[in-house]
Amino acid sequence: MELDVDGVAERVSTGALPSWDDVEHLVQDAFERNRGVTAGTVADYIPALAVADPALFGVSVAEVNGAVHSAGDVGHAFSIQSISKAFVYALVCEELGHELALERVGVNNTGLAFNSVMAIELNDGHPMNPMVNAGALATTALVPGATADERWAFIQDGLSRFAGRRLGLDTGVYESETATNQRNQAIARLLESYGRITADPVEVVDVYTRQCSLLVTARDLAVMGATLADGGVNPVTGERVVSQHVCRDTLAVMAASGLYEQSGEWLFEIGIPGKSGVAGGLVAIAPGKVGIGTFSPPLDAAGNSVRGQRATAFLSRSLGLNVFASGVHGRPDAQLHDTSTEGQER
Ligand code: GLU
Repeated sequence: MELDVDGVAERVSTGALPSWDDVEHLVQDAFERNRGVTAGTVADYIPALAVADPALFGVSVAEVNGAVHSAGDVGHAFSIQSISKAFVYALVCEELGHELALERVGVNNTGLAFNSVMAIELNDGHPMNPMVNAGALATTALVPGATADERWAFIQDGLSRFAGRRLGLDTGVYESETATNQRNQAIARLLESYGRITADPVEVVDVYTRQCSLLVTARDLAVMGATLADGGVNPVTGERVVSQHVCRDTLAVMAASGLYEQSGEWLFEIGIPGKSGVAGGLVAIAPGKVGIGTFSPPLDAAGNSVRGQRATAFLSRSLGLNVFASGVHGRPDAQLHDTSTEGQER
């Protein structure tokens, strides 16, 4: 794309959240309204995930000022799974820069499942975007380090800085996925055959499987998301994890492809970048405002947490997070009005 924006000063888009009390109540509401929902099924293609308790449910919101609001099982640890893709991508972008990440991994959708082999074939071996497994493996292959252990240390350390605490590995999930991830091994080999990864594909899959097996809580996800909402500074620890530019680029990719094949529907309904994982985690980010972390294992057919999506949709609307929603200049009433009365308002 030729955009001619070099040297143009970039301003940030900001807005105010409701008061601390209001956010606190709305987080409780998001939990209460959805705790009785029983739709969805727990993922079982990784055997260790099949035993998750479908009743677990937690909602956490971390503000960019460091305040954290929580309801439900926000301290329950589960494997981060695909949500790691977004944060590893951010760390790799920080190392590689905008242009190289764009060229090596890409930012466009495949329209196919997250673990599609056909998507690679249809695109001349290009991994397409970092939120599908091909792109995530290509991203992990770009992590700096001379050995798999060094690359793993870089990831564990980086994701821990996003969370503001040391994250550990779920060895049960890691071993279970290692025994059953032949498809990811095939994808890595295919990328190697196209010259898209030069690192050892066996090692790349192993490091990727470890990154997916990192244990997080809904609260961790909220803080990790808030770090991306806060220009790359963890609002709880005050540590800079990545640059503002990297946050912007990572959120753009999450907006385009974070919710599997339902990414368009997610953006249409909820209007903020997000990323989900098959263990039931979901992170969503309102730039300049909050990170939202939810956990509930039952998933819909696309692989997204049912309660997590509902709670996030409620919070996006009630906290005023949708980046596409605007008010009318000069009118103090910041609410969106029903479209049926739209004609009368103007
Ligand atoms: N580790 C999982 C896989 O690669 C992650 C899938 C997901 O959360 O979407 O299959």
